[in-house]
Formats: sequence, structure tokens, C-alpha cells
Amino acid sequence: MLAAGGGLAVLATGSALACDLALQGQAVQGGLVVGRAPIGASVEVAGNPVRVSSDGLFLAGFGRDAPQAVTISARRPGAADIECEIAVDPRTYKISRIDGLPSRKVTPNPADVARIRADNAAIGRVRKRDTPSADFAGGFIWPLKGRISGVFGSQRILNGKPRRPHNGVDVAAPKGSMIVAPAPGVVALVHADMFLTGKTVMLDHGHGLTSVYIHMSEIAVKENQRVEQGDAIGRVGMTGRATGPHLHWGVSLFRTHLDPALLAGPMKP
Ligand SMILES: [Zn+2]
Repeated sequence: MLAAGGGLAVLATGSALACDLALQGQAVQGGLVVGRAPIGASVEVAGNPVRVSSDGLFLAGFGRDAPQAVTISARRPGAADIECEIAVDPRTYKISRIDGLPSRKVTPNPADVARIRADNAAIGRVRKRDTPSADFAGGFIWPLKGRISGVFGSQRILNGKPRRPHNGVDVAAPKGSMIVAPAPGVVALVHADMFLTGKTVMLDHGHGLTSVYIHMSEIAVKENQRVEQGDAIGRVGMTGRATGPHLHWGVSLFRTHLDPALLAGPMKP
């Protein structure tokens, strides 16, 4: 199985050439497509070269506001180029406007600002990794089951000022509930106390696909440790900035946030 949860990509050929790339996943904003190109081909997604595994696997991710058409092309010496135009389905996101809030000036404590910057830099370094493993290829399961308390892409507009859209999915569960690795990978970051995200773990699933788990009460893994799908990585908590015990689960292809719920598919009880 190439990618769990998704139907086949919506695929339209952009030219008279047949599209010879096998694509699986969800061609939708926030979605991930796993492709297979002919062995030895180089692949570009929207004009950007991407890593291709020795057996031809590559990833194409579509962000929250991805354009509705993305071209994937594959080239290899001595053969005709392959070009596929992917139709990316648009989504509508939950937008809530809250007006009339007191315009209280919050002056962040400089020490907190410095911590937030350092935390973001560490997370950013993980999102630059481009490792050759294809741990993404077996698909994803939910790392925790519970009520979905926050969906991907939702956004609040406070006093007319848009806030950063929610870039993952929140699953509410009692403190101490076990969180498992949704796919195999290598632990790329363990942090015991990030300012906003508290106890934080990141996994590297290869080819630039990473995932993040935050607000945990306990961490069960160490950096550079390999995990298999279903291995415990920590427990639910509310460390950092959280109003109740929940897991915020994020998945990114490099710096593009994807919707983890699309990768894991409907949650079965
Ligand atoms: Zn969240």
C-alpha cells in the first residue's frame, strides 16, 4: 500500500502524452500524493526538483492554499518526458471572526521571545531534513484516538486581524493516554520544554516528510531512535500553551503543512 486513507489522485494529462506516473493519495489542499516514477527518472513538482528513491518513489504535497493545478514532470535520458497535470481539489476552512475584543497591548517578555525563536529554529531545522528513507510508503494511522477538537486549516480573525491558520489536527484525550508513531521513522527532535508546545517530539519519515507531537506530559523516545508504526512515543498532556489535555499532531512536507487527518483517514473507534 502506498498511502493509507486516500483515494486515487485526481489525474488529468496535461498534454497528448499519456501520464505514466502512478499516483496514490489525495490531490486536495492539505493532501499528500505518493508517486512512482520510472527508475532513474528525475522528478519536478510545480517546477521544483524532489527526491526520488532508488525504486522511483517521490512525494508531492499540497498546502492549505495550494493552487488548483500542479504539474508533475519526470525526465530520464533517452526517453520521452512525462508530464502530468494534477487537479488539486480546493477546500473550505472554518473561519471564525471575533470582533470587539479589548485591544490590550501584550508586550511579550524578551526572554520568552528568545525562547520561542530558539524553539522555532530547532523545529525549522528538522523541516529542512531530506533523508533517503521511504518510511512514509506504508501509510499512516492515528497516533491517538479521541475527539477531534481542532481541524486543519481553521483560522480565527481577531478584531479584523487574521491569525495563523491551525496547521495540524487536535485530538482530545485524557492526560496520560498513550501516543504512538503513526508511521515508521526516526526521532528527529525531542524537547522537554518548548515555550508554546511544551514536551515536543518530531519524527522524520523520509523525503522531507516530518511530523510533530506537542503538549505531551511524558516523552518515551530519544533523538535518533528508530520507531515503527504503533510504537509508543509519549503520553497526552497540556504542557506549553494548552487549555486542556490534547495532542496537536502536525505533518509537513518540508515547510508545507499538510492535513494529518487526510493521511490517517477516518478514525475508527
Ligand atoms: Zn492544534
